[in-house]
Amino acid sequence: MAKDNLINEGGAANAPFYLPQGDECAVFEAAAAHDLPLLLKGPTGCGKTRFVTHMAAKLGRHLYTVACHDDLSAADLIGRYLLKGGETVWVDGPLTRAVREGAMCYLDEVVEARKDVTVVLHPLTDDRRILPIDRTGEELEAAPGFMLVASFNPGYQNILKTLKPSTRQRFLSLSFDFPEAAQEIAVVTRETGLDADRAKGLVRLANKLRALKGQDIEEGVSTRLIVYTATLIQGGMSVERAIEAAMIEPLTDDADVKTGLMDLVTAVF
Ligand code: ADP
Repeated sequence: MAKDNLINEGGAANAPFYLPQGDECAVFEAAAAHDLPLLLKGPTGCGKTRFVTHMAAKLGRHLYTVACHDDLSAADLIGRYLLKGGETVWVDGPLTRAVREGAMCYLDEVVEARKDVTVVLHPLTDDRRILPIDRTGEELEAAPGFMLVASFNPGYQNILKTLKPSTRQRFLSLSFDFPEAAQEIAVVTRETGLDADRAKGLVRLANKLRALKGQDIEEGVSTRLIVYTATLIQGGMSVERAIEAAMIEPLTDDADVKTGLMDLVTAVF
């Protein structure tokens, strides 16, 4: 089943903090206004989920968030019959609930899900906006306000885990990347309360580590990891230990690479 469902009560005042990187908020609003599905592309931990949570709250729509994984099937999204007190009852999955209620449904890392998930998305992402539920024989028309948002990380070099053009071309798309240094510093200070000087140092280090992507490390340091590091430092951990635990260890398991990266830390700080 879906790992977590997130429901917003709505209103800009309740919206979690999100610092825009460009005109993505306007594109999202236009997509929502015209009932168009939206695909967010970008590396892990660069703010995609936060963006969706922020926009759903701003627009006052309920949001169902599903973290996709390789075992997630169409039934997990649509629903299934369950035994309850000796009776078999139908239980809607998060996608069906969003379709019925006119809510937003965010499928995080959609390419991770099983193949049958894409089949379900097709009739929902064209102008029919319907969700056929084979098990109950229902054909649900999406209620006004329903919006499908999906994300994927094009960086993973896995040919089997990419979206087919026939699926991609059903979505408006927005590219995300790690914020510019000044913005990323602002995010880190705002999220953790760390002073701007140390936040600046962490962001500088992160950008040096990002430059090594493809050489010794597969993925660059995410904004999320910088936020973790800053959180540890704010909690009293030494800068070096926090960096090791939150920025270096998550990147590699190779002892030599780790030592090399820690040398870089000493050079930057
Ligand atoms: P993704 O969904 O791309 O994997 P998240 O949305 O979970 O990444 O972002 C990870 C963390 O980074 C967030 O919890 C937040 O602390 C921070 N973050 C990244 N970008 C922004 C931004 N533009 N505004 C506010 N917080 C951000």
